Amino acid sequence: MFGPLISKPGTSKRNKTGSWRTESKPKFLHKNCIACKMCVTVCPEACITGDQKNTFICDYSYCKGCGMCAVICPKQDIVMIPEDSKE
Ligand code: SF4
Ligand code: SF4
Repeated sequence: MFGPLISKPGTSKRNKTGSWRTESKPKFLHKNCIACKMCVTVCPEACITGDQKNTFICDYSYCKGCGMCAVICPKQDIVMIPEDSKE
C-alpha cells in the first residue's frame, strides 16, 4: 500500500539514536494489529519492520521516541512507555 517515507533507518550506523531518545519508547502490544503498515509509513527513522499481523517491531537503536507510530495506529496496538520501563 504505502512504502516507508525513508528507505533505510537513518543514513548510516553513526545515526543510531538509542543514547538520546525522548523519555518514552513504543511498545508493540501484538493483540489487535491488522498489518496496515501505517506505523511503518509514518516512522521518520524507518525503523519499524513487520509483515504479518502482530509481528511489527521497532529497532530501538534508531527509534527517537517521537510517538508517531502510536498516534497513527488505527487499532491502538502501540503504546508509548517510559524509557526506563523493563517491559
Ligand atoms: S516512536 Fe517514532 S521513531 Fe520510534 S518507532 Fe515510533 S515512529 Fe519510529
Ligand atoms: S499501525 Fe498498528 S495495526 Fe497497523 S501495522 Fe502498525 S501496529 Fe499493526
